[in-house]
Amino acid sequence: MDYDVLVVGAGLAGMRAALAAQQAGADVAILSKVHPLRSHSNAAQGGINAALTDRGDDWQEHGYETVKGSDYLGDQDAIEILAEEAGSEIITLEHMGVIFSRNEEGYLGTRRFGGQQRARTFFVSDFTGQALLHVMFEQIVKSGVRVLDEWFVTSLVTHEGICTGVTALEMRTGEIHTVGARSVILATGGLGRVFEPSTNGLVCTGDGMSLVYRAGVPLMDMEMVQYHPTTLKGNGLLISEAARGEGAHLLNADGERFMQKYAPNMLELASRDVVSRAEQTEINEGRGIDGCVLLDCRHLGRDFILEKLHQIHEEGMTYANVDLTKEPIPIRPGMHYQMGGLKTDVDGRCWDKLGGDWGGVQGLFAAGEAACVSLHGGNRLGANSLLDTVVFGRRSGVAAAAFAKDAAASGIPLPGDAVQSQEEERINALLARNGTGDRVAGMRLEMGEAMNEHLAVFRNEEGMQTAFEKIKELQQRYGSVSVKNSGKIYNTSLIFALELGFMLDCAESIVSGAIQRKESRGAHTRTDFPDRNDDEWLKHILVYYQDDGEPRTSTLPVVITRWEPQIRVY
Ligand SMILES: Cc1cc2nc3c(=O)[nH]c(=O)nc-3n(C[C@H](O)[C@H](O)[C@H](O)COP(=O)(O)OP(=O)(O)OC[C@H]3O[C@@H](n4cnc5c(N)ncnc54)[C@H](O)[C@@H]3O)c2cc1C
Repeated sequence: MDYDVLVVGAGLAGMRAALAAQQAGADVAILSKVHPLRSHSNAAQGGINAALTDRGDDWQEHGYETVKGSDYLGDQDAIEILAEEAGSEIITLEHMGVIFSRNEEGYLGTRRFGGQQRARTFFVSDFTGQALLHVMFEQIVKSGVRVLDEWFVTSLVTHEGICTGVTALEMRTGEIHTVGARSVILATGGLGRVFEPSTNGLVCTGDGMSLVYRAGVPLMDMEMVQYHPTTLKGNGLLISEAARGEGAHLLNADGERFMQKYAPNMLELASRDVVSRAEQTEINEGRGIDGCVLLDCRHLGRDFILEKLHQIHEEGMTYANVDLTKEPIPIRPGMHYQMGGLKTDVDGRCWDKLGGDWGGVQGLFAAGEAACVSLHGGNRLGANSLLDTVVFGRRSGVAAAAFAKDAAASGIPLPGDAVQSQEEERINALLARNGTGDRVAGMRLEMGEAMNEHLAVFRNEEGMQTAFEKIKELQQRYGSVSVKNSGKIYNTSLIFALELGFMLDCAESIVSGAIQRKESRGAHTRTDFPDRNDDEWLKHILVYYQDDGEPRTSTLPVVITRWEPQIRVY
């Protein structure tokens, strides 16, 4: 159970990292709490961005629009890499076997996504993530990378500030193992379920962010939580931006295309934070319908909808009893994506190679939604996340393989039996609880609803302090939470309890960062500080775990290479 490189997480970021590390000559294993094909990347619908120069697009324009989309909080060195490497990653995906949708001439087709003037989103109908994930998994199977699926990482192992592996629960048997590695890549995805409802699946519980936060790596930009403009009321399911990209309109209760007031140039395709704020304002000012506004696709025509927006048509029928071809569907802003995450450099390193003061843990890398390079800053552009997973997944795989080579020569010991016994003791103690404490599901809902009430589209000091108190109270109660099943095999009660602990850490860091930022920028809109304040807040907020339950925060400058901050209008 010792590898050069261990990748935790088998979504797009993890699999891309594993392939790159293996191609760089490392012995690689990839470990995931669900089968790789059930990773949440599977849910991505609309597409993946790239500026392909052969059709007159320009990576600098993509870079600029990403910077503007981020409300100037994204680090421009990372954004330049993202935009410049995008084209070759799309071609690599195509060569791996992804059958992208084509245009009339037979070339790779594109659609428009929000915050961008050009159509540069490549797609496979409206199930792009699924198509990419399946092809990537085929490559993993072909490569011979060891896959440990339905293994749940419970803790990180470090030795004198260097990561040497993880402990993991094999869900089928209930056994705890240590898995040693010269470098570890965390690609554990997002934390959507810290909020209720969310567009994210139940597995998106921020495990990696919490594991590494507790190990001493700061979480950055955590206050930046994306509320997507088009989610279904109740269950929070996503209606992809692809609908607006293909021309759907947003209407209020008076039938008015209200985006004309808020973003006269880009209308429904302004950045997501802008559209969500506009919708919420319409709803708050009484021009909504039952807490929603309407998404109207009717003018696109039945044949077009069934070909290009097939999945969301089905979603509308199944979950809202609405036929998109015949009537508008009620939607509203809903929690969708975490812009922040584990602070990394542009090669995925979770430590400061230059010896600066943000700390971190050597030998540890992160990629995908769990990481914060910071590409997305205050607001992610649609279809930049899948791109993030492959570009920075690949880069972290290459860097982790190189680190592993050097670390192997340095003789750092990999985890031994003592680590395993300690973790077994901790888990057994959890299983042995007498069952009189709070139930996990109830606490999870209390947390999610508090976050959704106080850290949504509009925020203020009082609400955020209320949420902070709630999280502290839940953390207290978590100390005696009950696990109803003490069995070994597929003990989902145990998994849910462990996930709740991870989510509470994530919630704590989100609220701490949000209280700290006394301005409005991107997705962080404060009614008590309504303006962006570059003089004081053009910087990242880092949140550090503290044993006493009061997280420490510090700041880092934003990297600006070529695009000076401007007033942001669409
Ligand atoms: C409904 C929806 C639609 C979207 N559509 C788009 C789109 O069109 N374009 C776009 O760019 N982005 C889109 N996104 C965002 C994008 O899909 C995600 O940000 C991205 O796929 C995340 O990939 P990932 O590899 O980082 O994580 P995931 O794909 O979530 O993978 C995480 C992996 O980590 C593993 N894991 C987690 N915790 C543990 C643990 N404790 N132990 C072991 N393994 C663990 C999981 O098993 C899983 O394999 C969408 C998101 C949603 C929710």
